[in-house]
Amino acid sequence: FARQSAGLKQSTLSSESSSTYQAPLSEITKRRNLAIISHPDSGKTTMTEKLLLYGGALQQAGAVRHKAEQRATQSDFLAMEQERGISISSTVLNFDYQDYTIRLLDTPGHQDFSEDTYRALAATDQALMLMDAAKGLEPQTRKLFEVCQLRSIPLFTFVNKMDRPALSPYDIMDQIEQEFGLEPHPILWPIGDGDRFKGVLDRTTNTVHLYQKAEKRGAKAEATEVALDDERLADWIGDSELYEKLMEDAELLNEMIPPLDMERVMIGKQSPLFFGSAMTNFGVQLFLDHFCRMGTEPLGRETSKDILITPDYGEFTGFVFKTQANLDPKHRDRLAYVRIVSGKYEKGMKVNHSRSKRQYNLAQAQALFGSDRTSVDEAFPGDVIGINNPGSFAIGDTLYSGNSPIAFPGIPSFSPEKFAYIRAPNPSDYKSFKKGIDQLLAEGAVQALRQRNDENGPLLLAAVGQLQFEVVQARLLSEYKVDSKMEPLGYSLARWVDGGWEAVEKADKDGKLFGIMIVQDQWKRPVLLFRNDWKAASLAEEEKYLQLKPWSA
Ligand code: GDP
Repeated sequence: FARQSAGLKQSTLSSESSSTYQAPLSEITKRRNLAIISHPDSGKTTMTEKLLLYGGALQQAGAVRHKAEQRATQSDFLAMEQERGISISSTVLNFDYQDYTIRLLDTPGHQDFSEDTYRALAATDQALMLMDAAKGLEPQTRKLFEVCQLRSIPLFTFVNKMDRPALSPYDIMDQIEQEFGLEPHPILWPIGDGDRFKGVLDRTTNTVHLYQKAEKRGAKAEATEVALDDERLADWIGDSELYEKLMEDAELLNEMIPPLDMERVMIGKQSPLFFGSAMTNFGVQLFLDHFCRMGTEPLGRETSKDILITPDYGEFTGFVFKTQANLDPKHRDRLAYVRIVSGKYEKGMKVNHSRSKRQYNLAQAQALFGSDRTSVDEAFPGDVIGINNPGSFAIGDTLYSGNSPIAFPGIPSFSPEKFAYIRAPNPSDYKSFKKGIDQLLAEGAVQALRQRNDENGPLLLAAVGQLQFEVVQARLLSEYKVDSKMEPLGYSLARWVDGGWEAVEKADKDGKLFGIMIVQDQWKRPVLLFRNDWKAASLAEEEKYLQLKPWSA
């Protein structure tokens, strides 16, 4: 795909200067990053594992499946993932495939962690929407799709579990088109489903890839290929009804489906569509081949001043999209995960931190592979590095080399739906409690709200889901040895007041805020808590000067 053709602006800072930190073009063009979004149980873990298999990261492929075991010795927080079989912390899996270097950003699947997912999506340039062929679109797919659309993230779609009874592929296409306004463009088209799943037609080559039952194959599937017009095809499919249907479908799709237009894919209007079965490893490599060719190399990012920084800009730039403490309890370390936007990271380089205007020495960065880490000497656009976080780096912060100040816009937080007071019942724990809470807030594990101008008043935590609270309590206990008590509140919606405190005071004086809780966020901005959506909607409508917004930018 054409280099950075999406959203190229006049005011582009690119490779005018050639500093020591410029990334060589070859390192940019071979990189592809991808985040998988899906409803739990659609097969994301299985798909990830198979992708790694093709990348020759076979040993590590087991790590996906067995990560829970490896982490058993780590903190309780991670043990929670194990108990519940969910993935809480998003990580990055790196592997090479043919001439490509792939960065797979893992996104937590549990709905309570969509906030973490949202941040991982800020770091990716494209996503794979994985669907269960029998279920079609599911709630979590919908929620995540909205996020992708907000950010105009290009989406590939993989309909999984074709080896089981499935919805008609036309119905699935309709769902995607009707609900998402996204035009699916079939690349791989299924022949039958369940017990009668016979394989897929690759519409770009008019080749049929025949499916063989899992037990007949080794780890890497040896697909049998035959041209669509080959006279042996009917025999090989061995089901005249499905053969007829395939020939009909092939013709119909050619007439009906507009051509693939990568420009439209890049702005999230069209989505290349694949069918397959991750568990039996069918269609995965075909997907990977197409993805490498069709997917985009790392894209630049716009700064807060609307200047596009392209990957070949002569300086290192990047932003923090996640921070985490105590990954390894033996070291009590804190990591900030940085997505590199442009230039080259070099061990020991000095970078500027946009928020504090201070300089930091990036003595040691780490490449992340799940929970494993290895030290890296250099890294390039599209890569994610974990850097030691002295406590100064927060989500959304920009790091850059060179003299031109650069700041990427922050990553907005998800609008919380759960609210609860938290306290340490034992007064002697107060210091550790505060330390732990401060750290968890810095990581963005939850948001903190307080009464206006009441720094020492009761602490109200806000989260997207209940599980986030449980993680906070579990981590306080395991990492800071503090017992905590939570007291839930009956509010279910938060709105930031862009009109500011004056607007809040006016509404309050006019008696408009009855039954609504007024609080402030970490940056002392006014936030209103509502008991139901209806109340928030009517207030937004009637008191426009409040300028209610669902999230804080
Ligand atoms: P995740 O929750 O999205 O990570 O889903 P998993 O990868 O853990 O898969 C959920 C379940 O679906 C597991 O039991 C998998 O073995 C199964 N599964 C995944 N892919 C397929 C597939 O292609 N076909 C069938 N039949 N089962 C699958």
